[in-house]
Amino acid sequence: MHAAEKKVRAFVRVKPTAHFAQDVIKFGPDNKSIDIYIKKDAKKGVVNNKQTDWSFKLDGVLHNTSQELTYETVAKKLVSEALTGYNGTIMCYGQTGAGKTYTMTGATAEYKHRGIIPRAVQQVFRAIACSVDSFITVRISYLEIYNETLCDLLSTTTSNDMQMAIVDCPQGVYVKGLSIHSVSDEEDALNLLFEGETNRVIAEHSLNKNSSRSHCIFTIYIEVRSRVRVLSDIRCINSKINLIDLAGSERLSKTRSEGRVLKEAAYINKSLSFLEQIIIALADPKREHIPFRQSKLTHVLKDSLGGKCNTVLVANICGEALHVEETLSSLRFATRMKWITTEPVVNVTYDSEETVKTLEKEISLLKQELAMHDSLVNRSLVTYGPLTDVQVAEIKSQIHKYLQGAIDEIDIMNFRQVQEVFKQFKLIVRQQEGEVETRLRSKYILIDKNDFATIAAAQKVMADQAGVYVGELREDRTKSLISGRDLAAHLPSKSQVTVPTKNLDVKEKARNEDTVKNDAQPSKPVSEEISQRSPPSKAVAFEQFKEECGSEINRIFKENKSILLARRKRSSTVARRINIIKQEMEDIKKALEAQRQERSQQGEYVDEKGRLIIDEKEFLLIMKLKDLKEEYRCSYAELQDLKAEIQYCQHLVDRCRNKLISEFEIWYRESFLIPTYVQNALKPSGNIRPGMIPINRVMCLEEDEQERFEQMQEAMLPTGPDSVAFYKAKMKTDQKVMSAGHSSLPRARTGCEPGS
Ligand code: ADP
Ligand code: MG
Repeated sequence: MHAAEKKVRAFVRVKPTAHFAQDVIKFGPDNKSIDIYIKKDAKKGVVNNKQTDWSFKLDGVLHNTSQELTYETVAKKLVSEALTGYNGTIMCYGQTGAGKTYTMTGATAEYKHRGIIPRAVQQVFRAIACSVDSFITVRISYLEIYNETLCDLLSTTTSNDMQMAIVDCPQGVYVKGLSIHSVSDEEDALNLLFEGETNRVIAEHSLNKNSSRSHCIFTIYIEVRSRVRVLSDIRCINSKINLIDLAGSERLSKTRSEGRVLKEAAYINKSLSFLEQIIIALADPKREHIPFRQSKLTHVLKDSLGGKCNTVLVANICGEALHVEETLSSLRFATRMKWITTEPVVNVTYDSEETVKTLEKEISLLKQELAMHDSLVNRSLVTYGPLTDVQVAEIKSQIHKYLQGAIDEIDIMNFRQVQEVFKQFKLIVRQQEGEVETRLRSKYILIDKNDFATIAAAQKVMADQAGVYVGELREDRTKSLISGRDLAAHLPSKSQVTVPTKNLDVKEKARNEDTVKNDAQPSKPVSEEISQRSPPSKAVAFEQFKEECGSEINRIFKENKSILLARRKRSSTVARRINIIKQEMEDIKKALEAQRQERSQQGEYVDEKGRLIIDEKEFLLIMKLKDLKEEYRCSYAELQDLKAEIQYCQHLVDRCRNKLISEFEIWYRESFLIPTYVQNALKPSGNIRPGMIPINRVMCLEEDEQERFEQMQEAMLPTGPDSVAFYKAKMKTDQKVMSAGHSSLPRARTGCEPGS
C-alpha cells in the first residue's frame, strides 16, 4: 500500500523577544521564507568574498504564532494520519532556550500554553470518542537519551538504565526494556507526561544532569482494530507518533573569529552531529548505507526519520542578533531536512486468531438463527452439525432402497444430507462402472482404441473369417426385418390400429396425404374435428392471446416497460444536468484562478490575524462553486439511484417478456394443436385430469397424436417421473380391457379397422 512520495516538512518557529533583530532576520511575504543579513564588519576583518546574506525557504515561518496555530500547522494532519496507520515523527531542533520544550510540551501552568504533546494526546482521544466501529487502544512511553545512556522516564523501578537496549527487528526499531503504558483516556496520558517531566527534573538535580543536553522522546502507540465487514477479518492498524525534544544544538566554536565560526563548529552534543550526518545521507538518493547505529539517538530514530514515516521538523530560533550564528545553523539543518523524501505506508496486519474467533462467534449465532427459524416452521428435529456415522449409514441404505425402487423419495432435512446423498450416488456410479467393466472383460477381449497394432491384428483375424460372418449377418438381419413386419401385422388389437400408418415413412406419408384423407372417408367425424380449425399464424394468434388469456401479463409487461422508459428519460436528463454543472464548475474554477492570479499580482491583503482578504466578486464565485458542488453531489446520487432502478426494471421487463412468450406458446399449442375434444376434456369442467386420460380416448388418436399425447401425459403427470411406471401400467391394463371387446367406445375408429 504505497502512498505518494512526500518530502519532510520543516518549519521555523521564532521565539518572541523584545530585542528582535529586524535588520538581521527578515521574513518573506509568503510566510515561508526567511532571510538572514550579517553586516560586514571591517574591524573584524571579514574578507569581502565571504557570504553574508542567506535565504531559506521552508514550509512555514511561525512568528508570533500561538500554541494552537502552531499545532494546527505542524502536527494536526500528522496525528490524524497516524490514526489511519501512518507513523509520524515531530522533532524540535534548536539552541537551548529557543523554545523546543515550550513547543513540544508547552508551559504546564496554563492550558492555553500547552504544547504539541498534550494536544496530540487530546486529538487522539477525541478521535477515539468519535469512532463507532473500531476498537482503538493507546499506549505511551517516554524515553530520555543522555550521554548515550537510555533512561525510561516512566519506569517504576529505579535501576533500569543497564537493562535497556535498542533492538532492530523486521517491524522496526524498539527499545527493549522501555516501559510502555496503556492509557484509557486523555487524563491518564497526561499524567504520564507530567510524571516523566517530573522524573526528568529530579534526575537533573540528583544526578547532576544538564537537561539541555538530553534528548526526550515521547511516543504515542496507536492500535486500531476494525472488522472488515465482508470477510469478517480483523484489520489491525498499528502506528506510533514520536514527539522529540532534542538536546540544545549550540555548538562549540573552535575559534572566536566570526567568519570561521559560521563554517566550522562542533555540536556540544555529539549525537546531534551524527543526526546531521544521517540527514545528509538520507537526502542523497544514491546513498545506500545510512549509519543509523552510530549513536543511540539515530539508532532509536531509524524508522522515524524519513523512510516510511511522516516527518516534521520545527527549528526553534531566537530573534536576537546575538544568536544569529546558532540561528543560521538551525535554519541550515531545517533546509537539509527538507531534502529528505519519505514514502509513508500504512502499517496494517490481519489478525487471523481474532478472525477465527469472530467467525466462530458468527457460526454459533447463525446456528441459533437457524434453530429459531426451524422452530418457527416446526422443523424442530433438524441438526446442522457434521453427519454422524449412523446418519451416513442411514443415507446409504435409503439410496440403495431408492435405486431398487423400494422407496420413491429420500428424506432430506438439511444441506449436509444433500451433499452426502450426491456423494453416495457418485460412489455407486463408480462402483457400477467398475462392475460393468469387469463383466465385459470376463466375456470379451477389450482392446484399447489407441493400440493400433492390436487392432490391426484383430482386424486381420476378422477378415480371414469375413465371408462366413458377413453372409450370416445379412441373412439374419433380413430375417429379423421380415419377422418384425410379420409380427406387427399379426399383432392383436393395438397393431390393428397402428399398422396402416406405422409402416409409411414420413415422405411417403406426405405424398399420400390426400389419398390417406380420401381413404379415411368413413372416419370423417374424427378428421374433421382435428382439422376443424386450421391454426392461425402465430403473429395473429399472439394478438388474440394478448387480448384474452394473456391480457393481465401483457398489461404488467407494458407497465414495466413504461416505467423503464420513464426512468431512462429521467436518467439522461440528470446526466445532462450533471454535465452542465460540471462545465459551470470548470468555468468558475477558471474565473477563480484568474482572480487569484490578479490578486497575487496586485499584492495580497491580509487582516490582523494573518487571514487573506478577498473581494466580493471572488467571494461570490466561491459561494457559487460551493452551491454547484452540492448540486453536483445531489444529482450524482440521484443518477446512481436511477441506474440501479433502471437495471432492476430492465430485469422485470425481460422476465415479463419471457413469461408472455412462454405462456403464449403453451396457449397456442393447447388452443390450436391439440384436437378440440382433448381441449374440451382438459378444461376444468372436462372429465380428464392430467395423468388420468381414459385410454379409449387416447386410442382414438392418430398414431402421431398418440405419441405426442403420451409424451404430454408423462410431462404432466401429477407426482412427477416417479409415477410414470404406475400410469403406464394402468394404461396397459385399460388397453387389455378394451381389446377384450368393448364395443361401447364413443368414437370407434371403424373406418381404420382392417376389413371394414
Ligand atoms: P528549550 O527547550 O529550547 O531550551 P524552552 O522551551 O525551555 O527552550 O524555552 C525557554 C523559555 O522561553 C521558556 O521559559 C519558555 O516558556 C519561553 N518560550 C519559548 N518559546 C516561547 C514562545 N513561543 N512563546 C512564549 N514563550 C516562549
Ligand atoms: Mg528544553
